[in-house]
Amino acid sequence: MSNVILEVKDLKMHFPIKIKNKGFLSEKKYVKAVDGISFVIKEGETLGLVGESGCGKSTTGKMIVRLLKPTEGSILYKGKDIFKVTGEEAKQLCKEIQIIFQDPYSSLDPRFSVGSTISEPMIVHKIADRKTIKERTINLMNDVGLMSEYYDRYPHEFSGGQRQRVGVARALALNPSLVVCDEPVSALDVSIQAQILNLMQELQKKYNLTYLFISHNLSVVKHICDRIAVMYLGKIVEIADKNELFDNPKHPYTKALLSAIPIPDPEVVVEQEMLEGDVPSPVDPPSGCRFHTRCKDVMDICKKKEPKDLVLNDGHTVACHLYTKEG
Ligand code: SF4
Repeated sequence: MSNVILEVKDLKMHFPIKIKNKGFLSEKKYVKAVDGISFVIKEGETLGLVGESGCGKSTTGKMIVRLLKPTEGSILYKGKDIFKVTGEEAKQLCKEIQIIFQDPYSSLDPRFSVGSTISEPMIVHKIADRKTIKERTINLMNDVGLMSEYYDRYPHEFSGGQRQRVGVARALALNPSLVVCDEPVSALDVSIQAQILNLMQELQKKYNLTYLFISHNLSVVKHICDRIAVMYLGKIVEIADKNELFDNPKHPYTKALLSAIPIPDPEVVVEQEMLEGDVPSPVDPPSGCRFHTRCKDVMDICKKKEPKDLVLNDGHTVACHLYTKEG
């Protein structure tokens, strides 16, 4: 069995906000973007993190690359708490965990040429002399399908797909082990999405990478992931191997998400489980099970008691009262 490379334990990210009341006083509240999630990622695998916009998946990714400090909980990378390491260990950690951002337009500095963008992290971390860094940059450009002649060109000269190839090369510049891919293809045309996904799979094999793949698109996640965690309003509601999740979903939210995937065959009729209503506010999430305001299977207990994670079989975990004794 593969080793665990990343362990997330009871992670919370609550952002403080001020809400104005009728009088002069304003009230301090918290946006509970991530509210107690736990999962592991095994070395060499791709774990998908899926859910609707605002469910906390990108916030989770940002905490893993230390762009945000959690309110509570811990993230262990190869057994070490990433928020407790200092000095050389912290620098090494920066190299080993990298991120590919969603938007290839805003994530690249328009003043930096492609060569400078990719080589910048290597220069900052002083990993080699300038000549070696240039050679490595050109090798990375070849790896991601960019011609070396593009070295001195600027982001505005490229298409969205080419820019995302630059973003991928930049993420790989420091030879990372774990890459957080935050909706890396959702800003691209459908025809380009498959190219970038295939590229990411090739690079994963070549460089023995582990991916946390964040997406709202279940078809994309099905293509690239080994296991999938489903998030709803700051909580993980179900985790399973990809095939198990698609063939045997348990949580009503997962079932609704899966039934909304379009099937490109007019002969196949799928009974859609429409999700009603909007996602509630993460400032005042519903009591008990957070999904109870939209769940077609809701029971009395769901409004009062939060369901605990229940392991159904090896690697398949669900948080829903339908599968507990109380339900
Ligand atoms: Fe629905 Fe209740 Fe399960 Fe929540 S716990 S998903 S409300 S059945």
